Amino acid sequence: MPEKVSVIKCSSYNKEEVYNSVKQSLDNIGFRFKENSTVLLKPNILSSTTPDKAVTTHPSIVEAVCKLLKEKNCKVIIAESSGFSGTTKKAFEVSGIKEAADRYNAELINLGSSALRKIENKEGVVLKELYLPEILFKVDMIINLPKLKTHSLMLYTGAVKNLFGFIPGGRKQKYHLVGSTKEKLAKLLVDIYQLAKPNLTIMDGVIGLEGNGPGVSGIPIKTGIIMVSESCPALDIIASGIIGYNPFEIPTNKECIERDLVDKESIQVIGEFVKVNYKKPSPQISKIPKFLSNLAFKHSISYPKINKELCRKCSICINSCPAKALQMKGYPVLDKSKCINCYCCHELCPHKAITLKKSAVISLLIKIKDALKL
Ligand code: SF4
Ligand code: SF4
Repeated sequence: MPEKVSVIKCSSYNKEEVYNSVKQSLDNIGFRFKENSTVLLKPNILSSTTPDKAVTTHPSIVEAVCKLLKEKNCKVIIAESSGFSGTTKKAFEVSGIKEAADRYNAELINLGSSALRKIENKEGVVLKELYLPEILFKVDMIINLPKLKTHSLMLYTGAVKNLFGFIPGGRKQKYHLVGSTKEKLAKLLVDIYQLAKPNLTIMDGVIGLEGNGPGVSGIPIKTGIIMVSESCPALDIIASGIIGYNPFEIPTNKECIERDLVDKESIQVIGEFVKVNYKKPSPQISKIPKFLSNLAFKHSISYPKINKELCRKCSICINSCPAKALQMKGYPVLDKSKCINCYCCHELCPHKAITLKKSAVISLLIKIKDALKL
């Protein structure tokens, strides 16, 4: 069976044009939504940035998909855990996605404070067990909505990398430590992909991000395409080629090919596109000595701290902790060895009695980095 990837021209974020392009793309690959189903959308909402920065999936894309799903009487959930803990709610608003969701009565779920399920992952190469949001296992369909961008470490970020947003809170920083090289991080990302495979991916490539992506250091670049596929790796292979990479040098693509998750010979591209050579991430970025970046990641992992003066001993944090790392001993007490840094407790405490203290080492490292002009 060919792995179909649709590439459709879409010159702007005009709502009607985006809607028609997404609809045409679905026809191209012969994909139909099931009536009355519950569908989870996973856009890229890396940070609290406005749509013009091209860091996040544009709200017009989200809105077009919501509209198509509502036409089939589907219940729509939009879920994300942004790059930095405690910022998801704001990021939903600033990115314009909350407004799009409200227009279509879609539910927003902050994966940084939602229930988690522990998964044994015997086949995982790096992650033998992991915590994923419970909601992923309750919906009928997952639609991945990545943004087409370069990535300073992984070179390219698209369909497979976008699923890292399923990992809650500070767990992401911990996983960055586990995946200390791009090859290792690719293995970890593909472990996640294998456990949380979306049914469909719709990529926002109308305006992508070149240079030192995936955040605000990147530069928006008009690319004028929307891509759709049922296969994340097939879409990533084609998308990374369109922006001027050798797709088989992209670590996540290589890892998916090695694990037989995609047959590169059977990818069928439907539609037309013009290659747009993106500026690649600057090598300067990777000149930061590994010991410094590892130290930075290690110390950027915060642990919850209970403020006894504010705590009302309601036990909400204890009952919501998926790792059973908190125990009531007069006040909640943390067992650091059990904590998975999901920050559910921090997000759910109704009395703001749980803070996440940043390590002093982080500020010191930033000073060293500046002094060495890295
Ligand atoms: S949720 Fe907040 S107030 Fe309630 S026990 Fe935990 S720290 Fe205290
Ligand atoms: S104490 Fe529990 S809820 Fe809080 S961050 Fe750690 S694992 Fe998550």
